[in-house]
Amino acid sequence: METVTFDISHVRLGDRPLIVCDVDDVVLQFIDPFQRFLLSEGHELLPRSFRLHGNIVSKDGVALEDIHVSRLVETFFERQEEWQLPVSLAAETLSRLSAEADIVFLTAMPPVYADQRRRLLDRFGLTHPLLAAREPKGPIVKMLHGARPLPVAFIDDMAVNLHSVREHVDNCLLLHLMPVSEIHRFAPAAMDGTPRVNNWNEAASMIGRHFAEANAARSLTAAIPAA
Ligand SMILES: [Mg+2]
Repeated sequence: METVTFDISHVRLGDRPLIVCDVDDVVLQFIDPFQRFLLSEGHELLPRSFRLHGNIVSKDGVALEDIHVSRLVETFFERQEEWQLPVSLAAETLSRLSAEADIVFLTAMPPVYADQRRRLLDRFGLTHPLLAAREPKGPIVKMLHGARPLPVAFIDDMAVNLHSVREHVDNCLLLHLMPVSEIHRFAPAAMDGTPRVNNWNEAASMIGRHFAEANAARSLTAAIPAA
């Protein structure tokens, strides 16, 4: 049984739909600025498979040790405020959606860099609550949403996270939003039935439709007297 131990007490949800949103490569650009950061350190990411470890090489073409790659990722998170910018349309679309839904950012990043991420998101008006965790995302979304009879949506660029949420949260709209990049050509597809969206406009339309359908189903249930 997976248990989630970190604190979510600062996240206060209203009596309205919930949108849980990944950050890297969904709300903030990751792969592009990370590649520029690598070049500034004298390294390069070779898009040979959908992973960083094993695919980052030094000037002489030799792949860096895993521990070195992990350290580079951590340094990038430490210095994210110098490198990362919002994904196109993310800030304006989330601001629009926040009129009818609560939004929570759920980032798979070591919590030790949460202050940097908070400041960076705030800088772009992305002031919604932030949870930084390495744990699987499904149990966290379940803990947030609980058994509320309200619509819920989850957006991520990684199939593994979409699968985790599908396993733990019933009736959640799952959206697979990925940037166009060389390395993302190797990204595993999400399971059948998970819509792939190309941008925030498409995401917003699907979320709007899901919320409308879920609300219509709720009012229908409320209107039918129990037998
Ligand atoms: Mg991501």
